[in-house]
Amino acid sequence: MEQVVIIGAGPAGYTAALYAARANLSPLVLVGRVPGGQLSLTSDIENFPGFPEGLGGMELVDRMKVQAERFGPVVRYEEATAVDFSPVAHRVITDTEVYTTRTLILCTGSTSRRLNVAGEDRFFGHGVSTCATCDGAFYRDRRVIVVGGGDSALEEGIFLTRFAHHVRIVHRRDVLRASRIMQHRAMENPRIEFVWNTVIEEVLGDERTGVTGARVKNLVTGTETVLDADGLFIAIGHIPSTELFKGKLALDEQGYIVTDRRQHTSVPGVFAGGDVQDHVFRQAITAAGTGCAAAMEAEKCIARGE
Ligand SMILES: Cc1cc2nc3c(=O)[nH]c(=O)nc-3n(C[C@H](O)[C@H](O)[C@H](O)COP(=O)(O)OP(=O)(O)OC[C@H]3O[C@@H](n4cnc5c(N)ncnc54)[C@H](O)[C@@H]3O)c2cc1C
Repeated sequence: MEQVVIIGAGPAGYTAALYAARANLSPLVLVGRVPGGQLSLTSDIENFPGFPEGLGGMELVDRMKVQAERFGPVVRYEEATAVDFSPVAHRVITDTEVYTTRTLILCTGSTSRRLNVAGEDRFFGHGVSTCATCDGAFYRDRRVIVVGGGDSALEEGIFLTRFAHHVRIVHRRDVLRASRIMQHRAMENPRIEFVWNTVIEEVLGDERTGVTGARVKNLVTGTETVLDADGLFIAIGHIPSTELFKGKLALDEQGYIVTDRRQHTSVPGVFAGGDVQDHVFRQAITAAGTGCAAAMEAEKCIARGE
């Protein structure tokens, strides 16, 4: 029987692994399909403390892995395909193994909804982003497009006007889903322009300059045009990776794992950290922080013999 199994190998999972391994619990980490998690998708990280010059997303998460591995966790390139929570021992099933464990730390993260248009994958992390807090500062005095019509799209758009001199919010309808107050703020902002009834058909650019704009289509007239831009932010929502846990522990109405302030889930001995339980901050540092807290609580749970 394992002491701690950690599902997920992003900043939350590797920080949980570091703390659990240093507490002598020999944690087992299941990596899943995205080694390194969301950070592996982005080029520059300038807001992780301790790296004043900034560094690549993959390099940052690789460093977390190397640091955790110094203390001996077992890292397995397997995906959890089912979990079974029980008061005696929790079980995690992968394609090749069945692990039983006293405690479980869920760090499966989330994925941002994508447009699924040409050019999106090619420039993802290089001009196409899903996080204004993360990447907004790269667009000082530049032009950006934000795609979406809900509160988060307007929030991202307003935030981006701190840097970009022109923000176009492209929305597929002529009515916003966002709250009245957010609509009012965005419409009053002289740097924001709304492009209504319009969808992105293709992200344009080249390897040398990055994103140069987007080919868009007006859904009412059918007309296609090109909007110039240096960056494109997709703000159409996130999907927490909680499919495995549905019906097995408490999720909120958006599907995120419900945790208390000590990262306990609704099931004793099962903890969660990172974006899978956080739809507010969604940052590497907060994921690492909650991964750390989850591991410290797992350690206490084992020490108390619960
Ligand atoms: C383009 C982009 C740019 C970003 N830039 C920044 C930035 O500049 N600064 C910043 O602080 N944050 C940034 N972020 C946000 C940051 O990457 C996330 O907040 C952080 O990665 C969340 O960490 P996590 O460990 O919770 O989850 P994730 O990083 O999402 O990792 C989830 C892990 O769970 C694994 N997993 C999922 N399901 C299973 C399963 N069934 N079995 C086994 N493993 C599984 C995955 O394989 C993955 O390893 C950015 C995000 C994106 C997408």
